[in-house]
Amino acid sequence: MSRGRRKPDWLKSRPPSGSRFTEIKSTLREHDLHTVCEEANCPNMGECWSGNDGPGTATFMLLGDRCSRGCNFCDVETGGMEALDPDEPANVADAVAEIGLDYVVLTSVDRDDLADGGSAHFAETIRAIKRRDPEILVETLIPDFGGDPEAIRRIIDAEPDVIAHNVETVERLQWPVRDRRANYEQSLAVLDQVDRESDIHTKTSLMLGVGEYDHEVYRTLGDLREVGVDVVTFGQYLQPSRSHLDVFEYVHPDVFETWRRVAEEEFDFLYCASGAMVRSSYKAGELFVEALLREGRSPEDARRHARAAGGD
Ligand code: SF4
Repeated sequence: MSRGRRKPDWLKSRPPSGSRFTEIKSTLREHDLHTVCEEANCPNMGECWSGNDGPGTATFMLLGDRCSRGCNFCDVETGGMEALDPDEPANVADAVAEIGLDYVVLTSVDRDDLADGGSAHFAETIRAIKRRDPEILVETLIPDFGGDPEAIRRIIDAEPDVIAHNVETVERLQWPVRDRRANYEQSLAVLDQVDRESDIHTKTSLMLGVGEYDHEVYRTLGDLREVGVDVVTFGQYLQPSRSHLDVFEYVHPDVFETWRRVAEEEFDFLYCASGAMVRSSYKAGELFVEALLREGRSPEDARRHARAAGGD
């Protein structure tokens, strides 16, 4: 356990700043929108929002800012969920256009309190963005919707460019890391359904430093490839507060680099982003375009795909 142990130097990050950052923040407030970037106080906000040499990326959090679950690693508030904001899909599409993003990540809290888990609202937000501009690439980081295949199908039918769902950690540690309503098999089934029912790229993320063994991570990579996952990311778990799960270990950057190579060279993932500061949608736009190029496809090709898929 690392309770109270000093964070190593490689975990130091600069607070986000700059005109682009301030501009985006005010646009979000104008449209009454939430982002995971802000809710989780993500260390990469400045970098992602500015989009150095590629499409800027921001991750919008849908379905409110309070979750029906309480995972022990997550800083999002639990309980007290409010009614969905019917204007949210249009507001997100407006904000995306105003900020000028060409790669958007949509995620959400879990809403086990809603009959469809919020899937129809999530799907409508994808459609609202694509109706506004079919050229925009949309990545969705979805909950497991309680394993309801109909809810997942609603997301597939809205035709985003990437569907991500996080397994978060290895099978043995699902509890206590995740809420008891989440589990390894259910998360693999979500990714498997997308792979079987569409040609949409799939993606997942694992946190390291919660007590996993190497052989478990290795096995997880195998399980993910078995259900057709294209992209995987690894990042360091950071304790949001003393009431959250302890950090078991600060994983060295060399270990992250090893997992990147294993994932790409041994398991043939299309792309693996791996590093202490990497988060699910870290530089998602740039990495996705990179992944397409590896597949021999061009971003134009992806956009043609998006245009064909988006214009309904
Ligand atoms: S499901 Fe878990 S990880 Fe996701 S927002 Fe809720 S508490 Fe956080």
